[in-house]
Amino acid sequence: MSGLGKGVVTSSIIKILDFYGYSVLPIKFDGYLNYDCGTMNPYRHGEVFVLDDKSEVDMDFGMYERFLNRSITGDLSITGGKLFSSIITKERRGDYLGEDVQIIPHLTDEIHKQIETIAEKKKPDVFVIEVGGTVGDIENSYFIESMRQFSLKHEVVFINLTYVPSIDVVGEQKTKPAQLGFRMLLQSGIMPNFIICRSDAKLLEKTKEKLAMFSNLGKERIIDDSDVGTLYELPLYLMSQKFDKMLIKDLGLHPRGIDNAKYNAWKSRTSRIKKPGTKVTVSVVGKYTGLKDSYASIKEALIHAGAELDAGINIRWIESDNLEGKKDLPELNGSDAIIVPGGFGRRGIEGMINAIRYAREHGTPFLGICLGMQLMVIEYARNVAGMKSANSSEFNPKTKYNVIDLLESQRDIKLKGGTMRLGSWSCKLPMTDSIAYRAYGSHDIEERHRHRYEFNGKFAKALERAGLKITGITKNGSLVEFVEWSNGFGIGTQAHPELKSRFESAAPLFVGLIKEAMSRKK
Ligand code: GLN
Repeated sequence: MSGLGKGVVTSSIIKILDFYGYSVLPIKFDGYLNYDCGTMNPYRHGEVFVLDDKSEVDMDFGMYERFLNRSITGDLSITGGKLFSSIITKERRGDYLGEDVQIIPHLTDEIHKQIETIAEKKKPDVFVIEVGGTVGDIENSYFIESMRQFSLKHEVVFINLTYVPSIDVVGEQKTKPAQLGFRMLLQSGIMPNFIICRSDAKLLEKTKEKLAMFSNLGKERIIDDSDVGTLYELPLYLMSQKFDKMLIKDLGLHPRGIDNAKYNAWKSRTSRIKKPGTKVTVSVVGKYTGLKDSYASIKEALIHAGAELDAGINIRWIESDNLEGKKDLPELNGSDAIIVPGGFGRRGIEGMINAIRYAREHGTPFLGICLGMQLMVIEYARNVAGMKSANSSEFNPKTKYNVIDLLESQRDIKLKGGTMRLGSWSCKLPMTDSIAYRAYGSHDIEERHRHRYEFNGKFAKALERAGLKITGITKNGSLVEFVEWSNGFGIGTQAHPELKSRFESAAPLFVGLIKEAMSRKK
């Protein structure tokens, strides 16, 4: 079933192999027919993650990068949409002249080709492939069949992630769902090397024995994935069950020693999350707070900053709709910092603007991300610079003060897929005396983007006169990337710094925000 944390398990396996110094790359199969995640609703599917190369991918890619501590590329995301699109292009070109084009062998071979192409280019020791969906789904059946065939020509280890529920009253662990899932996998011709069991409580010996007996696997290959203190602890927990040793052996890899420095640094960071020093309360005022996955990267970036600074972050998720039309916002009292994250469409906007006014007037450290930055500009224009009807043309196309507007180059774009300002962009931070420069410690930085609207340069002078500082611009100077209040700690960025935050290297802006919040608490 979905929601078992396949992304975390995949990332943990990647990290384990990385601890041993193997070069490892993730691949994700997604069965849906969307070409990529760009047109999906974050409220249903979770956050859309963006890579340096402009790819809009599944949020699990965020998890991979956060564990792997480096940037990866969009070709590692193989979707049903991409596969079908490629097959049909080839068919029209005449690549299959005379043949019936079929799921097997054409689509299944296409999957092999895509993996082999990446392998030739990047030459990793191992791919860890996450097959989206559930065994038995129509959507991913051709991926599973393709992997069965793949294992006939390459060294492949299969891992079955499954669920072991407990019946609350007696705490008895039930193995039937796992047995049925396993049996279905066998029906597809795949015998897993390991069964990893997601469960609330630690797997009982009795449960392991039963699953081992039903699956013809040794008991040591039934792996416990019960709740750990933080998800970053999972690689360590899997290793405590000797999973690393068995996996490396099964993969036929040349045995290597573990990189102790890397392993120990990871371990000490996880213990800092579990026993933090100062407690910091951060309110995130957004429009998709009902589904926490919509803001997965922001949540993790805060955890990373906390781990770096030895702070325990308590996130208060506040639905912006609820802050609309109010004067006082008791909901925000007690916040050590406030974040307004990214988003699209008019709903909830006025509540976010209200929250920004609250932060400015109460001197609460504030970070606006993408939409959050745009609203910070609107709030400033309305309440400080006297442009009462200031807005973004996304929400009010008729306003005289369109302080946020579409770029000329965006006006004629009709196609919605992959046409925003996307991917990694270089940015200049010219002033040494700015929150941005102090956070990054460099005049040249790169961050990822995903938006259509921009700060309207027409209003730059007027807003600067009113006290809004422009502290970051694109390399060619044409677009505004960072704005700040002249008083207090308030910064907005058109970029998404949370997308490059990693467990071992927290995003500088988040570290800056939490550091400020901590220093005010003292
Ligand atoms: N809706 C805004 C835009 O398209 C902001 C997008 C975002 O926050 N990612 O520019």
